[in-house]
Amino acid sequence: MPVDNETKTLPVLVTGASGYIAGWIIKYLLEAGYTVHATVRDPSKQASVTHLLKMAEKSTGTLKLFKADLLTQGSFGEAMQGCGVVMHTASPFVLDGFIDANEALVRPAVEGTANVLNTVNECASVTRVVLTSSVAAVYGDNKDILAVPSGVFTEDHWNTTSSVNHNPYQYSKVAAEREAWRIQGQQSRWDMVTINPSMVFGPSLTSGSQSASIDTLVQMGDGRLRTGVPKLLLGVVDVREVAQAHLLAAFSPTAKGRYILSADELSMLNIAKILRTKYGSFYPFPRMEAPTFIVWAFGPLMGPITREFIRRNVGLPLKFDNRRSRELGVQYRPVEQTFVEHFQQVIDDGLLKKKK
Ligand code: NAP
Repeated sequence: MPVDNETKTLPVLVTGASGYIAGWIIKYLLEAGYTVHATVRDPSKQASVTHLLKMAEKSTGTLKLFKADLLTQGSFGEAMQGCGVVMHTASPFVLDGFIDANEALVRPAVEGTANVLNTVNECASVTRVVLTSSVAAVYGDNKDILAVPSGVFTEDHWNTTSSVNHNPYQYSKVAAEREAWRIQGQQSRWDMVTINPSMVFGPSLTSGSQSASIDTLVQMGDGRLRTGVPKLLLGVVDVREVAQAHLLAAFSPTAKGRYILSADELSMLNIAKILRTKYGSFYPFPRMEAPTFIVWAFGPLMGPITREFIRRNVGLPLKFDNRRSRELGVQYRPVEQTFVEHFQQVIDDGLLKKKK
């Protein structure tokens, strides 16, 4: 159902409000005067909500906090009452540090999405859901592009190569998005638009997020990658564009289906070069791409990077078609701005030492 003017005056529910991307979505909603119903697992946790409360004070909008957990059935009901749009961003985004990938990632993503959407089915005021999916629901490994004749991933592609054992985060995202479309397809009262960002960078409004986006940038500057980075291409996009896309997807009557959000494809070495151009050699940014045999030999010791991941990603091409997002109204800023502003904020937050 297209979004009408009445929907635009109703409160907007944002799940996972404490998160990196959700922070910017909520800022833009509040600045536009919306009432935001924001769910967090623990509203008494200062790191999750202080930045949101401060934003609300400075804006014309209204913020109401609610407690909800993806794995607690029905816990989104109270927050959803009276809302016209539901933006479902909550999902664990961690790439390592867990023992059971199913419990840490897949179950909260899939059961949590079903939990939120089953509540949408019971909440008559909701006419549109915006789901924060990912390009991880479009492809699993860079190697998958070799099976795409055009050599470019579009919204027509689906990740069929991830599993709970190989790329479990990617698997959690594709399984959750498929479940979301299955539930949406069983009714016609509410429609759904998915935002499928590539790797998100840019300044964070919260220092409390566990998002893997933030740790990736810290690693660039803390010396962990000093000996070299894998020859790996990443799709990258600014967090502010991702947040804007959520608002466009929520309130544009013509928004429909999936939208890949990706400004460009960069190698990890390109990212290091952007940062070195701005900050010089004070930080031990990686200066070279490690030969594949070194990555092969030592990769699994460096973190979550497995031999299977190396085989299917290192040295392989990657390209996304972002035309649909530009038609939706997204204007991508230069990636240099994204990385420099994000890195500066990581320094300002004390995650890296300050250059004197
Ligand atoms: P984030 O800062 O870690 O945010 C994730 C949010 O999910 C947190 O607010 C967290 O809430 C919530 N969450 C996790 N488990 C939960 C549970 N069991 N119940 C309720 N809430 C739970 O990560 P982000 O980068 O902003 O990611 C937000 C969304 O964007 C995710 O769906 C992610 O998959 C997607 N995405 C991210 C990127 C990226 O590069 N960052 C790219 C593509 C897609 P708590 O504060 O309670 O832990």
